[in-house]
Amino acid sequence: MAATSIPGFDHSYARLGGLFSTPQKLDPVSDPTLIFWNRRFAEQLGWRGDPISDPQQLGALAGNQLLTDSQPIATVYAGHQFGQYNPQLGDGRATLLGEWITPSEQRVDVQLKGAGPTPYSRGGDGRAPLGPVIREYVVSEAMAGLGVPTSRALAAVATGEPVIRNRIEQGAILTRVASSHLRVGTIQFFAMTRGGEGLESLVDYAVARHFAESTEQPIIGGDAKPATTLLEGVCQHFARLVAHWQVLGFVHGVLNTDNALLCGETIDFGPCAFMDHFDPEASFSSIDRQGRYAWHNQPGIMHWNLAVLAECLLPLIDDSAETARHTAQTVVDRYPQIFHTHHQSWLAAKLGLDTIRESDAALVQSFHDALATGKLDFTLAFRWLAEWANGNLEHSPIPELFTPSDSLNRWAQEWRARQKNNNGDQSLIAANMYRVNPAIIPRNHLVQRAIDTVESGHIEWAQSLVDRFASPYEWQAGDDEWARTPLEEERVTRTFCGT
Ligand code: AMP
Ligand code: MG
Repeated sequence: MAATSIPGFDHSYARLGGLFSTPQKLDPVSDPTLIFWNRRFAEQLGWRGDPISDPQQLGALAGNQLLTDSQPIATVYAGHQFGQYNPQLGDGRATLLGEWITPSEQRVDVQLKGAGPTPYSRGGDGRAPLGPVIREYVVSEAMAGLGVPTSRALAAVATGEPVIRNRIEQGAILTRVASSHLRVGTIQFFAMTRGGEGLESLVDYAVARHFAESTEQPIIGGDAKPATTLLEGVCQHFARLVAHWQVLGFVHGVLNTDNALLCGETIDFGPCAFMDHFDPEASFSSIDRQGRYAWHNQPGIMHWNLAVLAECLLPLIDDSAETARHTAQTVVDRYPQIFHTHHQSWLAAKLGLDTIRESDAALVQSFHDALATGKLDFTLAFRWLAEWANGNLEHSPIPELFTPSDSLNRWAQEWRARQKNNNGDQSLIAANMYRVNPAIIPRNHLVQRAIDTVESGHIEWAQSLVDRFASPYEWQAGDDEWARTPLEEERVTRTFCGT
């Protein structure tokens, strides 16, 4: 996968051939203006130029002209959407400009999302309204700040053209960067829709790109086939990613197989939201009426997505159907345990416990029960514990923002007793709580305010929100406004894909 110039664009996926993608023409827009430019991230990428000082670069990020060595393509994939197989989806409103090779020789996809129709648009306009672009920019950058594997936002540009949805909206284009955009749905397209044609090349490609050097303990061991390596790697990624979402109260909202990246980064921020008060059934997406993708269902749904991937890979796992099935099942069956291990270790850190012991199960359960029955703020409750464990509660701003219920206060007595039993350096365990319990999350009403203000032509407030997420675990002066639970009239309980 050698690149021609570093940093710069390469096109290894396009080189796989026409079965996988289609060259994409530019579709210029009338009046591009810059909304956000992620200067810090651009520096990490070794990006050349910027759209602030260079109108050509601005034009390129609006799809009006090509960047040096960019060869845009749209890629094909399929996917289960709300459990139903759709045999062909694809980049309907995204164009892959190429794979950017960073100075440290990392390979990342750079896409323009909302840059016009492609062969996979299925009647859609290939465009994106400003609101969803702002949501994705803010939330994906907040996720990055929170340390969650995620696609990134490099730029957001308004097109100067209207987009027609339920109402007329302003059009915008997001420059999205991910380790790759290969999805469970990409594998599905070749395994299921094409009956296996191209599948082996795709699997070899995905393994070379993402799982060449696995650091995890192998599940199967021995001389595993690439398909097995892929399944194991994705199993590890999914289990760790969902555990991280769960402990932050993140609800993705549309965990279809086409929105599950093989590289284990969070993608597709359409209807996503963080919960304010703890509610296991939290579900915000207007199209998820059954709560299929509610918070408490996410671990199980990603397990299901993994099983779909396994099914697709069977012919490449072993020549014997029986052995293949056994191997795949062994990997898929390991997911709950890997998830549990990650989840428990996050929870232990967040609760200031050395580890979650078997005898702690009831304590953990009653903590969640107290939050749920008291409709208490999920993020602030953990921060309250962190301040308490560090003997800092009275001197901290948290009591102004968070009032524990009687049952949480009672629970905290038990928790303090259990904490005293910790093995290891108590003060280190307590101090570490600040590093895993964020002071701020991108709360729904903040994201909505960012969207509203940008839509009315004011970028500063939204920019300051994005900037604040460079260090979400640190309490900073003026944070009360970012950290507080929304007032009843501010609460946003429904989110919309806005496609
Ligand atoms: P999503 O719900 O964002 O994961 O999108 C599901 C599928 O619909 C993907 O294949 C998208 O490319 C496609 N899609 C979403 N919005 C549009 C649009 N405005 N025009 C064309 N295709 C779209
Ligand atoms: Mg999608």
